[in-house]
Amino acid sequence: MITINSKVKEIIEAQGAKDYPNETCGFILGNFGSDDERIGDEIIIVENARDSAEAYHRFEISPDDFMRGEREAMRKGKDVVGIYHSHPDWPAEPSEYDFNHAFPLYSYLIITVPKGSSGEITSWRLADDRSSFENEKICIVDSLI
Ligand SMILES: [Zn+2]
Repeated sequence: MITINSKVKEIIEAQGAKDYPNETCGFILGNFGSDDERIGDEIIIVENARDSAEAYHRFEISPDDFMRGEREAMRKGKDVVGIYHSHPDWPAEPSEYDFNHAFPLYSYLIITVPKGSSGEITSWRLADDRSSFENEKICIVDSLI
């Protein structure tokens, strides 16, 4: 399960709508808890590194942005716990591409953006042996202590 605060959810929704019809993406910072539970309380917005011809259905985070995200998290005593991206006019389910490019560590949040307005957010975790991409429960709270 991943617990995020409502501010994180609002930023993901706003970015999904703003970057429509392209995919938006970024990092979720927070902390890994025990028993596979994690908390996300901050967003780092990342520019989709895909070229404009592909960005409507693909996202890519550049190695530089990955380093920036990890460094920023460390500086704040946090971890990168997840990566979010949007699916413009497509359900909030991982594509074959998402599955093939995921790492087991992170939560992958996907927001559907039908016709430019943000909808449902789902979260997915890659199995350690990379055999499956499992739906993960998202808990949204007003504030995190
Ligand atoms: Zn995707």
